[in-house]
Amino acid sequence: MSEKNAVQEKDLFVSGHRACHGCGQALAVRHILKATGRDVIVITPTGCLETFTLTYGYSSWRVPFMHHLFENGPSVATGVVAALKAQHRDHIRVLVIGGDGSTFDIGFGALSGMLERGDDVLYICMDNGAYMNTGGQRSGATPIYAGTTTHPVGKKSIGKPQLKKDMPAIVAAHGAPYVATASVAYLKDLRRKVEQAMTYQGPRYIQIDAPCPSVWGFPSDRTLEIGRLGVQSGLVPVFEMVDGRITGVRKIRTRVPPREYLSAQRRFKHLLEGNRAAREGFEKICAMADSNIEKYGLMD
Ligand code: SF4
Repeated sequence: MSEKNAVQEKDLFVSGHRACHGCGQALAVRHILKATGRDVIVITPTGCLETFTLTYGYSSWRVPFMHHLFENGPSVATGVVAALKAQHRDHIRVLVIGGDGSTFDIGFGALSGMLERGDDVLYICMDNGAYMNTGGQRSGATPIYAGTTTHPVGKKSIGKPQLKKDMPAIVAAHGAPYVATASVAYLKDLRRKVEQAMTYQGPRYIQIDAPCPSVWGFPSDRTLEIGRLGVQSGLVPVFEMVDGRITGVRKIRTRVPPREYLSAQRRFKHLLEGNRAAREGFEKICAMADSNIEKYGLMD
């Protein structure tokens, strides 16, 4: 067997799927499963991930995988955990890997219930900041002033007017013992956080910034660079929380101006070329980056 095939053989998420070129999610999932190992059951609510990894008769998953509706992934996970417990198969862990639409919006109630019950589930949110699978509609995770198909940019609009929900804080407020954010631009950090989460019992949450070239609007060979610009500008804080307290952050070594991150994406370009409202929107986003840097202590 060639070295390349030997490496592929060990992967639990394999090539041949139908993700767009440069999709951040495909890369992230491959590394998530490297960190968990094969004793897992993955539950994925409707979204890009489920759509591009399963075509009738084909699958990219080499672990047991269940697709469920947008709204009930966490409830199904609760049931699977109970079934495993009844069978005394405690070594098998349960993962939900949902998109931001199912996490922040449609499945939010079920997630809240799962957290409240304290079920032993690692919930991973692939955050690409919109409903990409159905054309890029805004979600509760869409950053403020991003242009989306449901908040198109025009004379009277500079994009989505609401702030992104602070989902890690919401999950931590439910009492989850382990909460973290990560980025596909830093895969070693991502894998370490998944490994760390697997050492806890109870509900755990990791939110992964997963750039989407197709809808964010950037060339597909720049996914990691865009992810890195988000983190280095302060707009995508990467941190870890244990029992509701921040215990670690990814420091920014060389700060990147938010303009570099925004100008590289079609969904934000209007903020740099537009009218007074656009200029004010741009300033507000720059202030948010400053505020994140201070709040999370991202720079020494
Ligand atoms: S639309 Fe975006 S998130 Fe969906 S598969 Fe394509 S690149 Fe990935």
